[in-house]
Amino acid sequence: MIDISKAPRIVDAAAQGLSAERISPHARQVVERLKDAGYTAFLVGGCVRDLILGQEPKDFDVVTQARPEEIRQIFRNARLIGRRFRLAHVHFGREIVEVATYRAAPSGGGDEEHDGNVFGTVEEDAFRRDFTINALYYDPDEGLVYDYAGGLDDLAARRLSVIGDPEARFREDPVRMLRAVRFAARLNFRLTEDSRALVPTLGPLLRDVAAARLFEEVLKLFHTGNAEATYAALCEHGLFEVLFPGVAAVLGSRPDPDSLLARALANSDLRIAQGKPVTPAFLFAALLWEGVQEEAMHSIAEGAMPAEAWAQAAEQVLREQLRIVMIPKRFSVPMREIWTLQSRFERRMGRHAFRFLESKRFRAAYDFLGLRAAVGEAGSDLFDWWTRFQEATAPEREAMVEGLHEKGQGEKRPRRRRRRRASGS
Ligand code: ATP
Ligand code: MG
Repeated sequence: MIDISKAPRIVDAAAQGLSAERISPHARQVVERLKDAGYTAFLVGGCVRDLILGQEPKDFDVVTQARPEEIRQIFRNARLIGRRFRLAHVHFGREIVEVATYRAAPSGGGDEEHDGNVFGTVEEDAFRRDFTINALYYDPDEGLVYDYAGGLDDLAARRLSVIGDPEARFREDPVRMLRAVRFAARLNFRLTEDSRALVPTLGPLLRDVAAARLFEEVLKLFHTGNAEATYAALCEHGLFEVLFPGVAAVLGSRPDPDSLLARALANSDLRIAQGKPVTPAFLFAALLWEGVQEEAMHSIAEGAMPAEAWAQAAEQVLREQLRIVMIPKRFSVPMREIWTLQSRFERRMGRHAFRFLESKRFRAAYDFLGLRAAVGEAGSDLFDWWTRFQEATAPEREAMVEGLHEKGQGEKRPRRRRRRRASGS
């Protein structure tokens, strides 16, 4: 049993490398105004953790004694969100500071999605959180950090410890296992051994989690700049095959650094580091591609027409994947387009290349061709041709297409790379 009556360890924030200057002025203002109104309020969660680690926080979360309605009365620029668990978004131009009321773990479990408004004390709020390093409360005004669960020691030891009984906490909300892997990979921490040992057995419980919630989690896993390390960590903990069984059956349950997927993830990490946009359509195109390809090749070998084989393979892989992770239509439609457009790179004669270049999805499809070329699945000469074609002037483009006629290399077939199967053949 967790002893929530235990007094917190209170330490000087400056000694932890925390200073009010590193907090968003808006978040600081929110804490101050709540305190001025007579409520206790702290910065909590990822921002405190990341600042102590010397990293840039993604956003600033505030937690307070004030109830949602009271928060709204204090901030004119606050909007209450969430149907069951209500919290406030305080808007400052484009920045949003999320303000939640202290919450107790509901008796039925701590599922983030399904618990209602069970308000509690700050102690209860600390102990319903997932990991000790996420349960640090910082008051920028006093310059103090309140550590209820031993998070500071764990931060120093680069240790990820579940608050409470790991098995119960993982069962209560299996997404915590994904969060564990994500934090371990991003922060370069190690999950404590007892918890680690549970993941391979409890991981399949993720199949009971709402597919829409898992979509959000998959984006956090792969779209926050550490996708490559996260992929390796997911494989290591046996969770990749739970989320993406179709792909894992082709790639195996070990991370394959030479796979199209690993390259795609490395690329997207690079793009994020450079501040370039990334899209879920491209991410899922890369995540599911190996499965689609395997399926299509299989049908073609059995005599199916290629175009039909590819379409059916895409259909089937997507259908199976959607049972686990939801992919909204606005992403799955362009994802499939990225796949379908691959065959158009091989038709360059006449006006084909010119028309393709104009199409809306050309750039994403071209980037995907680049990945396929990098793994030897498409010819690198083909990819180079398209690279030059884009950069060329109009007369140069005409000459490039003319050149294809002369060399008669318009419809060259790409070399296929040998595939590895996890089982069978
Ligand atoms: P990130 O930098 O990725 O945002 P974070 O720790 O801030 O990391 P959030 O998802 O923003 O993660 O959640 C904020 C806080 O809410 C966490 O630090 C943790 O204390 C708590 N929390 C979030 N999800 C859960 C969960 N499933 N179970 C228990 N506590 C959770
Ligand atoms: Mg956060």
